[in-house]
Amino acid sequence: MRASNLFTKTSKTAPADEVAKNAQLLIRAGYVYKEMAGAYAYLPLGLRVIEKIKEIVRQEMNAIHSNELVMTSLQRKEIWEKTGRWDDKVVDIWFKTQLADKTEVGLGWSHEEPIVEMLHQYIHSYKDLPVSLYQFQTKMRNEKRAKSGVMRGREFIMKDMYSFHATKEDLDHYYDQTIEAYKRVYDRLGIGQDTYVTFASGGAFTKFSHEFQTICDAGEDVIYLHRGQNIAVNEEVVDDAVKELGIKREELEKVKTVETGNIFNFGTQKTDEMGLYFTDQDGKQASLWIGSYGIGISRAMGVIVEKMADDRGLVWPANIAPYTVYLARLGVEDNVVQAADKLYDELTAAGVEVYYDDRDERPGTKFADADLLGFPLRVVVSAKTEEQGKFEVKLRTESESALVDRAELESQLKQLANS
Ligand code: ATP
Ligand code: MG
Repeated sequence: MRASNLFTKTSKTAPADEVAKNAQLLIRAGYVYKEMAGAYAYLPLGLRVIEKIKEIVRQEMNAIHSNELVMTSLQRKEIWEKTGRWDDKVVDIWFKTQLADKTEVGLGWSHEEPIVEMLHQYIHSYKDLPVSLYQFQTKMRNEKRAKSGVMRGREFIMKDMYSFHATKEDLDHYYDQTIEAYKRVYDRLGIGQDTYVTFASGGAFTKFSHEFQTICDAGEDVIYLHRGQNIAVNEEVVDDAVKELGIKREELEKVKTVETGNIFNFGTQKTDEMGLYFTDQDGKQASLWIGSYGIGISRAMGVIVEKMADDRGLVWPANIAPYTVYLARLGVEDNVVQAADKLYDELTAAGVEVYYDDRDERPGTKFADADLLGFPLRVVVSAKTEEQGKFEVKLRTESESALVDRAELESQLKQLANS
């Protein structure tokens, strides 16, 4: 991508009403546009990050044999009435609207009930099980407070997955597999070491559900951490957990976190509420076992910004950076332009994602933009580097630059690709 071809520009300021660091930086860098509190448009650079996060999640969900689909945002009232969750007193974040003929419909804040409803058409016998389905969907939630930037949207992107099983053992097994898949996701996003599988209040069926809580100063949640035993518990269940897990309360450390994902074991409750049964091996009607598993895709982007950004701007792990290289051309001399064009063309042809700052701007402006945008490696081509037949490289996470030849540049790029 050539900078001259990108419609967004960086800015020194963010909207005055934007208090969250993640949104301030993402807006200034041109990754997102704020439509209103809790509603952000994803611009070309932001969209690339979102798509890379989704692709990591997609690979890990496919690896546990889940099928991707996309449900609708418009939802029927009758389905949610079956479980009592159409009621605003029970679910207080609904956006509801009406069709032209005055039929009431809801905008999806979750797809638990609609997906169970849908499976009436597809699951009849034990032979149809197990089934795991997932989607990336824009969820609509009328959140009371939306002050955490993209970490709490009124419209946000979630990966939600639902699994359906003939037996409790099969669900329990899949639930555990999902925990492992989630750990791989957070590792690949670069926040694995700070993300804890956290005991939280129920599952309909089990005593605890599990949240994936990522340590983050800007977080809205608090967990209690037993570092020695690697156990984390949510605020709401501390007393219960201390009893059940046999840990000492005074050994727990209180830390601020963001819930980046969570998983629930519904047991057979939803089956029974919504009448979704199957015929078991003995020809008898039996209840389905259901699990539900979420990951906040746009929230993950916000958490990564909060945790990794520095005072100069965004810092992306190579896995999800929109581009790997910020190629800054300094000067407009023919030989400089030719050398920079050539490097851009060759790296791009080799599959390296290069953002080429080909604008006629001062070095200071380009370096400030390179820092704000946060791509892993800055490469400078100038009259000076051309004289020496080298390139000047600097990692975003470091302050010193170095002069390297083409072979060294390639080996640095390889390292980044494998990181
Ligand atoms: P929270 O307690 O933060 O409101 P939740 O319990 O409502 O989250 P779920 O309904 O289980 O969350 O949604 C699954 C995942 O979607 C969450 O773990 C979180 O990562 C993400 N998520 C939930 N609400 C939002 C939101 N308003 N904006 C962005 N991401 C969200
Ligand atoms: Mg919520």
